[in-house]
Amino acid sequence: MIKNRRKQKNHKFKLTASIVILLLTAFFTTACGNVGSDNSYNNEKTPAVSENEENKNLVDLNGVLKVHYINVAQGDAILIQCDDENMIIDAGKNNKAGLVDYYLKEQGVEKLDYVVGTHPHEDHIGGLDLVIDTYDIGTILMPKITATTQTFKDLITSINNKDLKITEPIAGTTYELGKATFEILAPNSSDYSDTNNYSIVIKLTYGDTSFLFTGDCEDVSEEEMVAKGLDLKADVLKIGHHGSRDSTIDEFLLAVDPMYAVISVGRVNTYGHPHKRVMDKLKEKNIDVYRTDESGTVIASSDGNNITFNTSPDSYDYRDGDKSGLVDDNDDSNYPDGSNNNLSVETTNDDSEIFIANIDKVGEIVTIKNNSNKDQNLKGWTLLSVTGNQEYIFEDFIIEAGTSITIASGKAQGDIKWGTANIWNNTGDDNGILKDNNGNIISKFTY
Ligand SMILES: [Zn+2]
Repeated sequence: MIKNRRKQKNHKFKLTASIVILLLTAFFTTACGNVGSDNSYNNEKTPAVSENEENKNLVDLNGVLKVHYINVAQGDAILIQCDDENMIIDAGKNNKAGLVDYYLKEQGVEKLDYVVGTHPHEDHIGGLDLVIDTYDIGTILMPKITATTQTFKDLITSINNKDLKITEPIAGTTYELGKATFEILAPNSSDYSDTNNYSIVIKLTYGDTSFLFTGDCEDVSEEEMVAKGLDLKADVLKIGHHGSRDSTIDEFLLAVDPMYAVISVGRVNTYGHPHKRVMDKLKEKNIDVYRTDESGTVIASSDGNNITFNTSPDSYDYRDGDKSGLVDDNDDSNYPDGSNNNLSVETTNDDSEIFIANIDKVGEIVTIKNNSNKDQNLKGWTLLSVTGNQEYIFEDFIIEAGTSITIASGKAQGDIKWGTANIWNNTGDDNGILKDNNGNIISKFTY
């Protein structure tokens, strides 16, 4: 079901001048529409200036802005596309890197004009190293806070390898993404006790519609934004910190006053996200909620006047107490030593520290990464191509701590050669499974 509601705004008049400019711009430039492969939206063009009094202030941006809240289970990964320009905010955990990469390729992304690492927790920056390695990169925005984890080191290595620079987010700075603009709203301090509060908060505006992206920012940062009197008003709010009770304080929600909320959260997570306190507030205010744990990837499209979604709104269900006592809810990333697999309750051992990072099906190369602190001999382990039911059994081969190896088939070259036949099915689904020498599934790579 596609929802298409129009919201009355009080700031229409100040937009009039910019509408005229935008109309002139639109007249001389080509359309941006049709980014990506999904055509399931209501993408009708709205008349620029209508005789009809009702439509008088509609904007014609001659295209569509798309915001993809990619389903990366517990974590965030958001792709924003407008006028052939692309931006990514976070890229999920390490073991979701391949999935994010695949998703971007599916959308035809070749360059990322902006890469935002909201804060250095693994469920946000884990996949960013592969993104940096793979695409043409423009501006990288990351807060001024470091982490001692292997994940963070990997990201910095990838940035350095391409001679890229990190831009510090300065609140109040605005950037352009095609005909959309975005403004940095946070962080507003240089020192927080909780890493989550360093999260870069961004307000994206496209015509008369707006989106707020909050990373994992919590009450402290939300209070600062409210106290500064920033224009937080937005149509779509990405709920902070996967729906944790430490985010989305009343004053903040009141100031944002969203029509829609999106929660990026894992179906199975040890934190009990999203929490009752947050879900109750959204329900009470009758805010439509879209959740990656219920709908999978959520795509919002804006023509500058209306926002439509690729799916119908989800439930106000919460998980408080599901896994209580297992882990400190304040930290959804990993332990200081970089390990996090012991937090996993995924049945597929999805958060293993040794995992399939990518399957390049066309290139016939599988990348396996060892994100743990110790070397692992893969002797007796198996890599399975599910569709063709082909199995590669590893011989004596050590994957060193913190490194990746490649397994090549067909004409490809890699650290290990899996025969000369092509293994991976290029057209349909072909998932990869990695099993240890006892036959336990260690990692599953799913398209
Ligand atoms: Zn997070």
